[in-house]
Amino acid sequence: MTEASSSPAISSPFAQLGLPAELLATLAEVGYETPSPIQAACIPHLLAGRDLLGEAQTGTGKTAAFALPILARLDLSSPRPQALVLTPTRELALQVAEAFAKYAHRLRNFHVLPIYGGQSMVIQLRQLARGAHVIVGTPGRIMDHIERGSLKLDALATLVLDEGDEMLRMGFIDDVEWILEHTPENRQTALFSATMPAAIREVAHRHLREPEEIRIRAATSTVAKIRQCYWTVRGVDKLDALTRILDAEERLDAAIVFVRTKIGTEELANKLAARGYAAAALNGDMTQGLRERVIEQLKNGALDIVIATDVAARGIDVPRVSHVINYDIPYDTEAYVHRIGRTGRAGREGVAILFVAPRERRMLKTIERATRQPIEAIALPTREDVSTLRISQFKRKVLDTLANPDAAPDFFTGVIDEIVEENDLDAREIAAALAYLVQAERPLRTGEDDSQEPPTPARRYDRPPREEIFTTGAPRERAPRPGREEILARRGAFADSKPRRYRIALGRDHGITPKEIVGALANEGGIEGRFIGQIDLFDDFSTVELPADLSADLLAALARILVRHRPLGLRLTDENESPPARRFHSSGPRRDERPFTKPGRHADRGHESDRAFPPRKKPSRDEYPGAPKGRKHAKTWEKRQKKR
Ligand code: ADP
Ligand code: MG
Repeated sequence: MTEASSSPAISSPFAQLGLPAELLATLAEVGYETPSPIQAACIPHLLAGRDLLGEAQTGTGKTAAFALPILARLDLSSPRPQALVLTPTRELALQVAEAFAKYAHRLRNFHVLPIYGGQSMVIQLRQLARGAHVIVGTPGRIMDHIERGSLKLDALATLVLDEGDEMLRMGFIDDVEWILEHTPENRQTALFSATMPAAIREVAHRHLREPEEIRIRAATSTVAKIRQCYWTVRGVDKLDALTRILDAEERLDAAIVFVRTKIGTEELANKLAARGYAAAALNGDMTQGLRERVIEQLKNGALDIVIATDVAARGIDVPRVSHVINYDIPYDTEAYVHRIGRTGRAGREGVAILFVAPRERRMLKTIERATRQPIEAIALPTREDVSTLRISQFKRKVLDTLANPDAAPDFFTGVIDEIVEENDLDAREIAAALAYLVQAERPLRTGEDDSQEPPTPARRYDRPPREEIFTTGAPRERAPRPGREEILARRGAFADSKPRRYRIALGRDHGITPKEIVGALANEGGIEGRFIGQIDLFDDFSTVELPADLSADLLAALARILVRHRPLGLRLTDENESPPARRFHSSGPRRDERPFTKPGRHADRGHESDRAFPPRKKPSRDEYPGAPKGRKHAKTWEKRQKKR
């Protein structure tokens, strides 16, 4: 019996396990750096064709432990089922099938088919007739197909029983044994289970041949040390909720806050920093060096809060991260497991908080099912809670300062004495004024900070002013739309002109989108789309590339065009004008607008102002490397399968 501990020291890189190059490349893409302990222990045996009994808790990576060696051994030239994986539920069947598809993404013509009860027989029969290399299914339906002859297992090389204890609990063991008896005797068999009850051990004894026994100690489970809770987004906006949690969570040391987009990381980091938190963004647009610096700062306490995308935060191991906050719900359970695994490191306890909008409740349920852990509903701390806590922290700080010999009491009491004497004041009044100064960034009395919050752009700009709603006809100051002749004249007038960068007085804060800019310039300005180049949005202005030789008249007309009830204010950028310094790291324009930029005609011609606007990278699939291939929704999966 092999006893493996979960210490990363025994994990060897995947390459050393004997996996083929295509799979190694995919694993690198998927972001797996080292095999998990169960993977490190199982993969070589399974590659060698041995039977295996594997015991390891949920979330330890058992799927890849069997999927990778199966994929490595497939004969892709034959479409007959060579591997069968039995799972207790339809969800797991889909998940495992998705995992196969993800790991096999570089294997040409590979087909995996999930087969489970409740799905149309007609569809399944058709899919089975087309053939698949790997079948993943629930026992009942697999039995049906074996009996009907629609699933022929004579070429079966490997059979995996996933979640053995769960099969037992759900009463599937007899079905499983029946299936085992209807598959070729020379097959390889692997049985995985989170626990090893006697009945499962007996099944293994009856059907496995001299199995390798691998057990990963239960203490290695990370999920168990993490307290998982969720807050239903209602009433209070998410930013406010986040700050309340950051303020009121007593044992908060450092936190990683997950959002879905790169741009979201920067926006949230800026907002938190503006409210006095030591916060920074971490995303795939940042260079490796910058990312490492942020992580280093999080480690050494220069930063307390890192706002990250899934990919950028993958694998971060910072023991002081006490909290993971899922500000935006993850796209799938895998991402969730990765996220919360950033806390509870090095044997410490961790807290994971998930923000769930009412319409996201299904995802919450899916996560609970997949991690097999209940996620507990929590209420937000009230403003009073936050206030009480801030006051007590403040008092502690004052007392700590009094106790600090370095605080040079004589010097400061001298200054206070002077204020008292010069102004005939009471020391209490002065103390109160000082307290006010000290707390200005994070007011002790919460509720006040709301009044300082600017109204959200949506409220400020989205809705037309009241009188316009009731006015018929065109809004008052609307620039006259150029006539058709004029538009035609404008077109082609600058066919060979070199593009220049123009500034627009509206930016992200005004709620403007690249589409609206193109729309306004094309429809109202009569500028043909192909002359509109790269558009970059900044907080309070934007830039757009247009032909250099726009006439003064046209420029003035364009400047008057109203978008979101404000004039575009188009003008040439000052060559030296650079985008505002980002508080955090990314020095160029944000790249999330990339889909709207127009490469080609203009983008590839270098020009002066390019220095302020560094060349764009090709869009990376960073945000979700497995994305188009690996989303796990039964619907898309089925759709895709139907298309085949
Ligand atoms: P189990 O079957 O043991 O419950 P899974 O196979 O579902 O666990 O894996 C749990 C999570 O861990 C999944 O999100 C999976 O993508 C991830 N994972 C598995 N192996 C690795 C690895 N070597 N490195 C990083 N993540 C991994
Ligand atoms: Mg599993």
